[in-house]
Amino acid sequence: MTDKKDYDVIVIGGGPAGSTFARIVAQGGMDVLVVDKRREIGVPVRCGEGLGEREVHSQKLDIPRHAYSTEIVGAKVIAPNGKSITWKSDETRGWVLERKVFDKWLAEKAVEKGAEIRSYTRAIDLIRENGNNGTTGKISGVVLSHGGREPYEVRAPLIVSAEGMESMIARKAGFDTVHKPYDVDTCYQYEMKPYDHENLIELYFGNELAPRGYVWIFPKADRKANVGIGIGGTSFNGTKLGGMKGCDPKILLDRFIAANPHLKLSEASTLMDFGGVISVGTPLNEFVKDNFMVIGTAAKQVDPIHGGGIALAMECGIMAANVVLKAHAKKDYSKQTLFEYEKTWRDGPGKKVAKRLLLRKVMEKVSDDDLNYIFNTISDADLNQIMKGQFAGPVAKVLAGRPQLLGVLSALIH
Ligand SMILES: Cc1cc2nc3c(=O)[nH]c(=O)nc-3n(C[C@H](O)[C@H](O)[C@H](O)COP(=O)(O)OP(=O)(O)OC[C@H]3O[C@@H](n4cnc5c(N)ncnc54)[C@H](O)[C@@H]3O)c2cc1C
Repeated sequence: MTDKKDYDVIVIGGGPAGSTFARIVAQGGMDVLVVDKRREIGVPVRCGEGLGEREVHSQKLDIPRHAYSTEIVGAKVIAPNGKSITWKSDETRGWVLERKVFDKWLAEKAVEKGAEIRSYTRAIDLIRENGNNGTTGKISGVVLSHGGREPYEVRAPLIVSAEGMESMIARKAGFDTVHKPYDVDTCYQYEMKPYDHENLIELYFGNELAPRGYVWIFPKADRKANVGIGIGGTSFNGTKLGGMKGCDPKILLDRFIAANPHLKLSEASTLMDFGGVISVGTPLNEFVKDNFMVIGTAAKQVDPIHGGGIALAMECGIMAANVVLKAHAKKDYSKQTLFEYEKTWRDGPGKKVAKRLLLRKVMEKVSDDDLNYIFNTISDADLNQIMKGQFAGPVAKVLAGRPQLLGVLSALIH
């Protein structure tokens, strides 16, 4: 079966990347179809739902009140020994979203600009010219299935993968989207109530607590909070902690809750409970091929320090859409023309992500004792600098009192 209609572009995935991309190309006059395998856009939620204001500042995103649960005024960063730094600045304001509302709002904005969205519709294969649906031949469409029903074909000269972590169709297009355990964090999260908070996100660090990761408490409205943990993917597979071989993030999260009675989380109810995996490694080494692009988490465009991918997904959706509008005007969807998107990434957010990946790799070599020392030495102003990728000042401060860290931290200042 073949869809009666052809499109200018088909987007696979109606998350923040896909809906943002679709909104802009639809506004520019392109005929765009977005498909998402979920029955309902944004559901189920698999996210801590934190979004930093500074990360979306340039997007002028006017998030409606019903799409976020609460505003965030700052962050509290807690060292392994319990010492905390409270950090309130332009860098730390933001929101804890209601993703099921937020994602649908983004999708609706795309529809309002003329995009068509089909939920519960999975892309199961690529169509290539010459009748070869394998790995060669010009990409010219996708095979779709609504809720597992009879597959049908839809044609477009450009296919965009905004598939998130799964990225199965991007793999079929020839992108190396496989995730190595070292390059992911495995996560577990509860939405809990009651939890009394001060609209600060709380981040707890420690190698015993959360190897190569952290525990987060993201406040929500009505005395609720997302309480979650992310740990390095290889910790999950092999590290031995307190006699426990292989760290299950849920077990570590439960241990954190039990070990911190002052937070009163062991008395709280769990309203939602899920596990997930997020990329924290190097983005794909290419984002475009002839007639195909990859955007958002499918392209591993995620912050390697905290695993946040919403802002980058939208930013890269905009970036890709602007290039596609130019390609559409020339009716040229070649890799060469689409490459401008990849270049804009490399010259912009790609540089920031590379710095943050470096910081992540350095921090994973630091012991709990060193972490305690670092937290004791740096201030909230230093944290601002670190978040901007300006490491020299804070590193010099730390090295003045603990020169033996030079070997580990030097990578940040060269
Ligand atoms: C536990 C956890 C906590 C997180 N917390 C945060 C956080 O607090 N802040 C933050 O910024 N980020 C967070 N993230 C990351 C964030 O959720 C993602 O980076 C973000 O959703 C990426 O947006 P996207 O549009 O690229 O992909 P997604 O939001 O993943 O959307 C991809 C869509 O593609 C659809 N899809 C996939 N394959 C197909 C197919 N073959 N056919 C049709 N549809 C398909 C999926 O159903 C999905 O709807 C977290 C991730 C995890 C796992």
